[in-house]
Amino acid sequence: MKIAILPGDGIGPEITKQAVNVLKALNLGAELVEAPIGGAGYEKHGDPLPDSTLNLAVKSDAVLLGAVGDWKYDTLPREKRPERGLLRIRKELNLFANLRPAILYPELVGASTLKADIVSNLDIMIVRELTGDIYFGQPRGIQTNESGEREGINTMRYSESEIRQIAHVAFQIAMKRSKRLCSVDKANVLETTELWRQIMIEISKEYPKIELTHMYVDNAAMQLIKNPKQFDVMVTGNIFGDILSDEASMLTGSIGMLPSASLDSNNKGMYEPSHGSAPDIAGKDIANPLATILSLAMMFRYTFNDEKHANKIESAVKKTLSLGYRTADIFSPGDKQVTCSEMGEAVIASLN
Ligand code: NAD
Repeated sequence: MKIAILPGDGIGPEITKQAVNVLKALNLGAELVEAPIGGAGYEKHGDPLPDSTLNLAVKSDAVLLGAVGDWKYDTLPREKRPERGLLRIRKELNLFANLRPAILYPELVGASTLKADIVSNLDIMIVRELTGDIYFGQPRGIQTNESGEREGINTMRYSESEIRQIAHVAFQIAMKRSKRLCSVDKANVLETTELWRQIMIEISKEYPKIELTHMYVDNAAMQLIKNPKQFDVMVTGNIFGDILSDEASMLTGSIGMLPSASLDSNNKGMYEPSHGSAPDIAGKDIANPLATILSLAMMFRYTFNDEKHANKIESAVKKTLSLGYRTADIFSPGDKQVTCSEMGEAVIASLN
């Protein structure tokens, strides 16, 4: 088990450290090698994805990533910005399937801004395509048009094979859950997603047990707030998935609770919390490390096919919450407020 550890920027190093401590406490003899990415990569090697980091990731079985980004890099040329390192590593490793569960732990029902009866027992899996769409489509850029005015251009583009690939992942995940899959598109307006819908319908014939439904993205955004429990597995493209998965994460109270997995076609994966580098709280030891620790659980489930250790980590997190431990982002009066490192220690203490 060779795991690349890429702490990144902001709270990345603090939260990653806690997940690494949990991994070490499991005593599985994993080989852990750390490397810089994002702003840290730029500072050390002048590149947000240094070659040495990419090589390490390619040679590892899985990657655990903290987060990248800091406002201080906002004036750098786009290619040098931390977020570019993240987009590139996903593309280079062919991590086309991003799994983002939105689970509301019963102990945190009060942390959601929605009424308890709307969100209690919420458990949604959003499957987001990660390496295509408007984030990567060409042509792109800012150019001056014929009338001398500047215009920005991005291109929404999906090939049939890209859609097929993510469709199979989503249908297979739905098979293991409630066998309901909602595909989100904007097929009434965008041809790219008209094709998306056609391919989803075509692939659904290979999965006759799955009930496939379709929803326009604007309606999906509303329905997630109105009645989120109608969804079980949702599948969508890169940009819609980016927005909807953040929206779904907030149903659960804090983005600090939500893990993610990004997989290639062999289930090699990169695992990272759904949130960013939170520069506003970096270095204060107050960030919530649970999303990163739960990402580690996903690593065991999806890359190492090791349900036992995935469940062990998830149970330890649940136990820690039921004992009342809370970082500031999920704290309510009456709870035991702890720091990031104390939360990590509490999870380790709950492992057995
Ligand atoms: P963010 O997710 O970093 O922070 C949003 C809010 O949530 C902040 O108030 C932050 O303090 C809070 N928060 C986030 N994670 C938390 C945690 N674990 N515990 C407690 N509170 C937490 O998003 P942002 O502020 O829009 O972006 C900050 C930087 O992160 C930017 O440079 C952005 O580009 C980058 N970013 C990186 C990723 C990534 O690495 N995957 C994702 C999103 C944003």
